[in-house]
Amino acid sequence: MDFAITEEQRMIKETARRVGEKYGLDYWRALDAEKAYPAACWQEICDAGLCGIALPTEYGGAGLGMLEMAMVVEQLAEAGAGSTVGQLFMVNPIFGGVAVSRFGSPAMKADFLPKLISGEITCCMALTEPDAGTNSLELRTFARADGNGWRLNGRKIWITAVPQAKKMLVVARTKRSDEVRRRTEGISLFLIDVDRAGVDHTAIDKVGTNTLPSSSVFFDDVRVEGEELVGTLDNGWYELLDVLNTERIVTTAGLVGTSRLAIKLGVAYANERKVFANRPVGSYQGIQFPFAQTHALNEAAALLNYKAAASFDAGQPYGSEANQAKLLAAQAASAATERSMQAMGGMGFSKEFHVERLWRDARLFRFAPVSEEMALNFIAMHDLGMPRSY
Ligand SMILES: Cc1cc2nc3c(=O)[nH]c(=O)nc-3n(C[C@H](O)[C@H](O)[C@H](O)COP(=O)(O)OP(=O)(O)OC[C@H]3O[C@@H](n4cnc5c(N)ncnc54)[C@H](O)[C@@H]3O)c2cc1C
Repeated sequence: MDFAITEEQRMIKETARRVGEKYGLDYWRALDAEKAYPAACWQEICDAGLCGIALPTEYGGAGLGMLEMAMVVEQLAEAGAGSTVGQLFMVNPIFGGVAVSRFGSPAMKADFLPKLISGEITCCMALTEPDAGTNSLELRTFARADGNGWRLNGRKIWITAVPQAKKMLVVARTKRSDEVRRRTEGISLFLIDVDRAGVDHTAIDKVGTNTLPSSSVFFDDVRVEGEELVGTLDNGWYELLDVLNTERIVTTAGLVGTSRLAIKLGVAYANERKVFANRPVGSYQGIQFPFAQTHALNEAAALLNYKAAASFDAGQPYGSEANQAKLLAAQAASAATERSMQAMGGMGFSKEFHVERLWRDARLFRFAPVSEEMALNFIAMHDLGMPRSY
């Protein structure tokens, strides 16, 4: 076990930090207020080679691993972006990049990956459905065979960054639930154009993550070509799980960076603010201990996440660590932003001090992309050998 990072990793972290600081707290506050997409920041992330950090060199990536990606996302989040930058990595190098580089055809890889890595195009991923939710296997979006392709019909909800995306990774049934022995069968993945005839989307009004729109998506007899299948027909569920577990790693990294940033902002304020006896409020244990507790929780989540990432890179099982890390990091980010706001009093509630945005955005990750309850279900069943409770 070696906790030292390599010289290459140190330089990657420095690059991410530099880009993150260029697009710091004020940039994200302005975009949040305008509900505007962080296009300039994402382009710079791509230009710096950070989108493709874990993607194959033959398509313009750096050929490194999920460990380096976690380090990059942590730095960007901590420099000012907060947890939403994790979502940008989720939809692009994970849903687009990992899915296509692992399961796409050679032609799809050659066409899609260089454009994704350079930032020329962005991606989104449509799994969640209004009537399925957490129980993803109840999905009803159906791709009916039609010549050498399919016709897609159905509805998705809460899909991130659809209006900006050129491509969408769609999870659909290719066999009806009554035609299969197990619900995990008969599911396939497709990479389609967002602007294709029959694809419609409308924005959902929401509490936070204002810089990344969330949409309801409707498929009305959308033509899907044979070559747009990603992975194995009818067997996409297990391939999807491989992608979803890497999603946990970047989510966690974004949350780890968020907690560090929120704690830093809260501590700086508390160490200055004096209200009684000319002592800063940060001198009270009632203010210090929650920060210390949350810091410890967050650093534990960061280490578990590195273990998940390193295990993925080594081709070893990593699902347990990825779920445990996500659980802890989401709780830490909720606590860090909450405690930071508490320590700032009224100023924590103002837009001026940034914590309110981090607080709103971090709340999402208690129930998405995997909810706290489902992470606990996973740990109870897979790690503790307890019976399935649902
Ligand atoms: C801002 C935002 C962005 C998102 N982006 C995307 C995206 O890009 N692509 C995509 O496909 N999806 C996306 N999602 C969807 C997200 O993954 C789901 O919201 C999440 O999986 C929870 O599903 P649900 O909202 O339907 O909750 P529900 O399934 O309705 O669950 C409600 C509550 O019940 C709990 N619960 C359910 N079953 C159990 C059980 N067996 N045991 C204990 N508790 C249980 C859940 O944990 C949750 O707390 C996004 C969601 C949001 C809000």
